[in-house]
Amino acid sequence: MYAKVIVDVPSAQTDRQFDYEIPDNWKSIVQPGMRVVVPFGPRKIQGFVMSISEQSSYEQTKAVVELLDAEPILADEFLQLGNWLAEETLSFKVSAYQLMIPAALRTKVRKQLKANEIDSLPPHLRRLFDQGKVYQWDDLIKEGASVLSDVQAEVKKGTLEVEYVVLEKGKTKTQRLVQLNMSLEQALSLLTKRANKQIELVHILSRQPAPISIQALLEEGQTTHASLKPLREKGIIKEVDQEVYRDPLSGLQFERTEPLKLTNQQQQVVDQVNPCIQKEKHDVFLLHGVTGSGKTEVYLQVIQQALDLQKEAIMLVPEISLTPQMVNRFKGRFGSEVAVLHSGLSMGEKYDEWRKIKRKEVKVVVGARSAIFAPFDRLGMIIIDEEHETSYKQEENPRYHARDVAIWRAQYHQCPVILGSATPLLETYARAKKEVYHLLTLDERVQNRKMPAVHIVDMREELREGNRSMFSTVLFEKLKDRVANGEQSVLFLNRRGHSTFVMCRDCGYVATCESCDISLTYHRSQNRLKCHYCGHEESMPRTCKSCGSEHIRFFGSGTQKVEEELTRVLPEARVIRMDVDTTRKKGSHERLLSAFEKKQADILLGTQMIAKGLDFPSITLVGVLAADSMLHIPDFRSAERTFQLLEQVSGRAGRHELTGEVVIQSYSPEHYSIDLVKAHDYQAFFQTEMNQRKFGQYPPYVYMTLITISHQELMKVIDVAETVVAFLRRELSTETTVLGPVASPLARIKDRYRYQCMIKYKNEPKLRKVLVEIREHYQRELNKGLQLTIDLQPYLFT
Ligand code: ADP
Ligand code: ZN
Ligand code: ZN
Repeated sequence: MYAKVIVDVPSAQTDRQFDYEIPDNWKSIVQPGMRVVVPFGPRKIQGFVMSISEQSSYEQTKAVVELLDAEPILADEFLQLGNWLAEETLSFKVSAYQLMIPAALRTKVRKQLKANEIDSLPPHLRRLFDQGKVYQWDDLIKEGASVLSDVQAEVKKGTLEVEYVVLEKGKTKTQRLVQLNMSLEQALSLLTKRANKQIELVHILSRQPAPISIQALLEEGQTTHASLKPLREKGIIKEVDQEVYRDPLSGLQFERTEPLKLTNQQQQVVDQVNPCIQKEKHDVFLLHGVTGSGKTEVYLQVIQQALDLQKEAIMLVPEISLTPQMVNRFKGRFGSEVAVLHSGLSMGEKYDEWRKIKRKEVKVVVGARSAIFAPFDRLGMIIIDEEHETSYKQEENPRYHARDVAIWRAQYHQCPVILGSATPLLETYARAKKEVYHLLTLDERVQNRKMPAVHIVDMREELREGNRSMFSTVLFEKLKDRVANGEQSVLFLNRRGHSTFVMCRDCGYVATCESCDISLTYHRSQNRLKCHYCGHEESMPRTCKSCGSEHIRFFGSGTQKVEEELTRVLPEARVIRMDVDTTRKKGSHERLLSAFEKKQADILLGTQMIAKGLDFPSITLVGVLAADSMLHIPDFRSAERTFQLLEQVSGRAGRHELTGEVVIQSYSPEHYSIDLVKAHDYQAFFQTEMNQRKFGQYPPYVYMTLITISHQELMKVIDVAETVVAFLRRELSTETTVLGPVASPLARIKDRYRYQCMIKYKNEPKLRKVLVEIREHYQRELNKGLQLTIDLQPYLFT
C-alpha cells in the first residue's frame, strides 16, 4: 500500500504527489487528510496524505517514517477546496492546505546527533559530546564548517548517530489533577499523627468526588507543593494530566440577550434567507443595509435558525471590527456555542479554538478572514459582514478572497451566504443588479431613527477667512456644545503618528526612507523619524539634507498632534486617543473602548480602527479631518474607498435615541465621493462611479491581473518586467490590454526594487496557461532572489 503525499514545503518541485510505502502497522489506520513524516532528499519533513493506492508508478519508494494524526485533520471537503483554491489563485497546493490548519500543527522535524562510542571520536570532537547524550544539529552549526565536516565523517563511520525528532509546536496545555488513590481510612492509616498538613489534604480530597487541580488543593489547604511529597511517596494520591483550553475570552462576562422583535424590513430579509437554510438550498444574498439598519440582529436570527436545525455557522467580520462589542453580541446570544478566531490570539489560543470547532464543542465561529476555513462539517449559514473590506483579500500567496471560499463552501454544503454592507463593493452590487446575487435591502434605520445630517466644510475657504487651525469653525462650535451637554463625539483622522512627514520650506525636500523611497514619519515622543514599511529609524534632522536650510519642519497632522491641539482649544474636553501607538499592548483596544463606553471621555479620537462597528448610544457628533487624504492614492478604487470610509464613519453617529450629526472637512468638497455622503446616496454614488469605471475601462467592466516583479538590482527587475510584458503582448489576444511595465507605487521596499504590469481583459481563455508558463519560466531564478507575484484579483495597488 502506498500513500500519495504532498510535502509541506511550498515550491514548484514539491507541488506534486510522491508515493511512500505505508508500514504494516499503520495500514489499517492511515487515511487521506492525515499528516505524516516522510523522507525528502536528505531531510525528513511533514506531509499530507492525499490518497491511498495499491500501486505506485515509481520504481523505488521510501517508507512513511511517522504517522502524526489518529484521524484526518483535513476532511475530504478541505482536500477538494485546497485543490480548487490552488488552481484559482495560481499557487502551490500545500500553501492552500496550510491555510486550513492552525500554525501550531505545522510540525518541524529536527536533526539530532548522538555519540555512540565517545572514545573513538577524535579529541577535538570529544569535548563536544558526552556518551549517549543527544545534541541538536542546529547548535553544532555554530561550531563552524570544519567541525561539521569532521562530524559528517564520524556519522559515516557510525561513531555518531543521526536521529530525527518531530517537534509539535502546538503542544496542548495541561493541568495536573489529583485525587485519592484509596479510601480515606486507608490513607489515614498510612500517615503518622503528626503529619497535620497531609491529613488535612487527604480530608479535602476525600470530600471531592472528582479529581481537582493541584493548585486548587494547595490553595484550600493553604500549603505548598512540598506537602504533597509524602503523599506521593506513600502512593496515597493519584495524579493525572488533563488538557485545558487556553481561552482568549477568559475572565470576561457576557450578558445573555434575547432575540429582538424584528422590524418589517428585517423580517422580510429573514424570511428570504431562512427557507434556504431549511431546504439546504445554496444561494448568495447581498444584504445592502444602511448603517444602523439592524443587520447584526438579522445575522443573529438567521444563525439561530441554522442552530435550531443542528447546523453550524461562520460569521466573518473584518479584523478591525472584531471589537469586544461584536464579540459581546455573539457571546451574549449564543454563549458557549461561540468560538472566536482572529490575529490577536496567541498560537495556542488559535489552536484550542480550532480544536473546539473540530471536536464539535461549538457551533458558531466569529472571526476574521481565515475563519472561513473553520473545520465545520454541517454548515448551515455563512455571513460576511462589511463585505467591501479589503482585509478579506489575502495579500500574500495564496491570494484568495474569503468571499470566493465562502461561496465554494456554501455550494459544497448547500447553504446560503449573506454578504452584508452599507456600502457594498461596486463589483458586488453590480452582480446583485444582474441578479447573480439576490439583493436584500434595509434602507431605514431601526425605530425610525434618522440618518445623521452631514455638513461638508470647504477647508480652503476656512483658510481664506483666516482660520489656520485644524478645526473648522463649525466643527469647533459643535464639539464645544457636545462637551457642554455631556454628549460624546468621535473625531476621525485617516493617518497615524504625530505628523506624517518632514519637509523643507525652502526647497521642498521631503525626508524619505533610503531603502523604501517613501516618506518617513515623525514621532514626537521619541523625536525620531520612522519608516513604516521597513522599520528604519533616524533622528530628526536639524538642517535640510538637500539645501542645508534650517527651515525644516514636520507637516500634516497625526492623531497625536490633533490631541494636542484639542487640549489647547478645548481644555475642558476629556480625550481618548486610539491609534496604532496607543493600542499596541494586548487588551488596550478593549480597555480604551470600554472607558469611552463608560463615558470616561467626551471625545474619541482615532484612525481607521474606529471607523467601523462602534455602536455607542451617546455618540451624537462625528468629525472627519482631512476627508480627501484617501482620494489621492494611486488606485482606481480611491473614490470608492473614500465614499465607503466616510459613510462608515458617519454611521457611528446617532444610532440610538439621540440624533447624530457629521462634519466632514475637505479640500475637495465638490468631489462626488464626498458630496454624495451628504445625502447618504449609495445608488447615486454607484451610478456615477460605474460611469467612471466604464469610461476608464476598470472593473467590473473588465477583469484585471497584476504582476509584480522585484529584485535587489534595478536593471534585473526592468529586464524581467520588459520580457514578461513582451511575452504577454505576444501570447494574449489583441483585445486584451497589457499596461506597463512601470515602477510600483511603492517602488522600493526593504532594498528591493519593484515593477509591475497590469492585464485588463474581458474574455481571455489563454490567460491562466500563459501565466503558468511565466511562473515556470522564472522558477529557477525565483530561488535566486527574484520575486514574481501574480494577483488575479488585485485589491490594493501598492
Ligand atoms: P448595523 O449592523 O446595520 O449597522 P446594528 O445591527 O448594529 O446595525 O443595529 C443598530 C442598533 O439597533 C443596535 O443597537 C441594535 O441593537 C438595534 N436594533 C437592531 N434591530 C432592532 C430591532 N428590531 N428592534 C430594536 N432595536 C434594534
Ligand atoms: Zn531644503
Ligand atoms: Zn523603509
